[in-house]
Amino acid sequence: MVTSIQSVVGTERKVVTELPGPKSQELQERRRRVVSSGVTNGFTVYIERADGAILEDVDGNRLLDFGSGIAVTSVGHAVPELIEAVTQQVAAFTHTCFMVTPYESYLQVCEELAQLTPGDHDKRSALFNSGAEAVENAVKIARHATGRPAIVVFEHAYHGRTNLTMALTAKNMPYKDGFGPFAPEVYRVPMSYPFRDGHSGPDAAERAIRLMETQIGAENIAALLIEPIQGEGGFIVPAEGFLPALADWARSRDVVFIADEIQSGFGRTGKWFAVEHEGVVPDLVTTAKGLAGGMPLAAVTGRADLMNSVHEGGLGGTYGGNPVAAVAALASIHTMRERNLLARATHIGDIISERLRQLQAELPLVGEVRGRGAMMAVELVVPGSREPNASATKAAIKYCTDHGVIALSCGTYGNVIRLLPPLIITDEQLHDGLDVLSEALRQQS
Ligand SMILES: *Cc1c(COP(=O)(O)O)cnc(C)c1O
Repeated sequence: MVTSIQSVVGTERKVVTELPGPKSQELQERRRRVVSSGVTNGFTVYIERADGAILEDVDGNRLLDFGSGIAVTSVGHAVPELIEAVTQQVAAFTHTCFMVTPYESYLQVCEELAQLTPGDHDKRSALFNSGAEAVENAVKIARHATGRPAIVVFEHAYHGRTNLTMALTAKNMPYKDGFGPFAPEVYRVPMSYPFRDGHSGPDAAERAIRLMETQIGAENIAALLIEPIQGEGGFIVPAEGFLPALADWARSRDVVFIADEIQSGFGRTGKWFAVEHEGVVPDLVTTAKGLAGGMPLAAVTGRADLMNSVHEGGLGGTYGGNPVAAVAALASIHTMRERNLLARATHIGDIISERLRQLQAELPLVGEVRGRGAMMAVELVVPGSREPNASATKAAIKYCTDHGVIALSCGTYGNVIRLLPPLIITDEQLHDGLDVLSEALRQQS
């Protein structure tokens, strides 16, 4: 059964109708009558099945996936080991609630997290359902452990859509507009954004530290919360030295350093966690997206003294660490090891960088190419300036989707195209998608 699922979908992009096709258009009509218009779609093709890096829609089109459902299906679609693990678990039991009667897979996930996250100190984890929930809990833990109220976040940050995580998120539209009032005691300081601020890492860190010391006071700060590479904010890679300087400062002031690795973690950048590129060891790490191969699972992992500072019963939730999601995480982690997907992420990054840098040399529209491993992006500008070019970004994305390549935009200014292919994508598939993206960018120039 497992192999038949595999063979249903081909390995090549193939567009057989206009996109979206007639069946997708019909479903989209139905959707309008029942689904809130507050939830939108990037691309209204309805998916029926998937395999590897290919999604097949209801009209029989095969689309090349450069988004992985926003950095989630890093191990690819229809991974046999994951199908097997999930199927067996569904048959065994689907839920008990870990807080009522526990099960082993929850422990195994926490054992893996203790192993994989940076640092060899004593660690504990707690499991949740979504990234936002993990971030909320990391903040709860940091506040409880320090007895301090303030949380420091950065410009361009994205941490989720719940009330607290909206407060932590920088961008107003569409995430926050009209949804306030927001949770208090959240302070925002400037990020290191080399393309736009020109500061060195240590200088950018110094600027942020001065603000924290003078305007908040370290003794009031529970945690500094940062995405080591910002995701929704524009795949912003801080200048070298920025993260280590902030981590050192946090340690010296007993401020909890929380790395939000929800998008950048789990092998995406060629290491298990993006902070490892600069040797930073966070106090707490939040994970979700790439953790469980498409099943909803999230975690907070970190220093045992912090994680155990909370009173008994202070953390939890009905579904957190659901057994089906937990075995999916174990299968996904195992697959990443077996198929050497970290090295694969680096290889994918090398191919993307080379191709995009050629384009940058050719097209003044391409302001910057950046990222690490299989978390790469291009920032588009008005030629001859650094003015963000959101309209060209939108048009280029449309060209890609019209041609069956699912690419996503991001960025505070909506002018970044991000590439997040599944790590099992083949070189041929990758080049095929990059050919389409190259043509899309040439057409905008
Ligand atoms: C997606 C994301 C979140 C929120 O995760 P959800 O599962 O959507 O709640 C938080 N932080 C970062 C860095 C993310 O990319």
